Amino acid sequence: CGIVGYIGQQDAYDIVLKGLQRLEYRGYDSAGLALYDGKNLSICKTKGKVSELDLKCKNEQLIKGKVGIGHTRWATHGEPNDINSHPHQSNSGRLCIIHNGIIENYDTIKKVLEDRGYQFKSDTDTEVLVNLIEEVMINEKVKLGKAVQIALNQTVGAYAIAVFDQEKPNEIVVARLGSPLAIGVGDEEFFIASDASPFIEYTKSAIYLEDGEMGVIRLGREPRIRKINDDKLVDPYITELQM
Ligand code: GLU
Repeated sequence: CGIVGYIGQQDAYDIVLKGLQRLEYRGYDSAGLALYDGKNLSICKTKGKVSELDLKCKNEQLIKGKVGIGHTRWATHGEPNDINSHPHQSNSGRLCIIHNGIIENYDTIKKVLEDRGYQFKSDTDTEVLVNLIEEVMINEKVKLGKAVQIALNQTVGAYAIAVFDQEKPNEIVVARLGSPLAIGVGDEEFFIASDASPFIEYTKSAIYLEDGEMGVIRLGREPRIRKINDDKLVDPYITELQM
């Protein structure tokens, strides 16, 4: 399983799709991606190979977006099918997430959210997480980064996630615990991936998130990295990739 993301000036589709192909070696049963142009969102996902995803996306004529996230899934909660494939959206449609890993206490959180009126389309733990983030945003009137942090502190499990808010088209929030996540730092663009292979052709500068860290990646400034369970900013350590 793997995750890929892009935010910048280029058309995200090719970067995300090619990135997913580079991560195929990690194993998966389904693949999907989301593209966002600041107004419209396209999501395309399918059980099966990345090559099948490519065909499906081309048939569906997705919008062109400068924000993109992509995912290869290794199902843990919910069978491999199109609906359970990532990305997943929150109930309002505002938030869009990809996730590798497991949210072990998703069932308890799901019951609380259902009592508050949330509805779920998939059987995944991931859809529970994105709605928990939305619930925190609404309830505590905080921005995405803070909501992700509060929500993750209520979860037990393992994850590499990337999530964006349609109301903030220049930002992607990422976090990791137990699954790898690297940020590629380019010129007016950022890449996100499970390892550097999807972005090494575009940039040689990478920030490898440490376990238990999250990052707010916003165009026009350095990524803000902090511990998920602490509010202090961590100085991002930029590695120069060889090759
Ligand atoms: N637990 C999530 C799911 O089953 C993510 C699985 C993965 O790591 O790809 O959808």
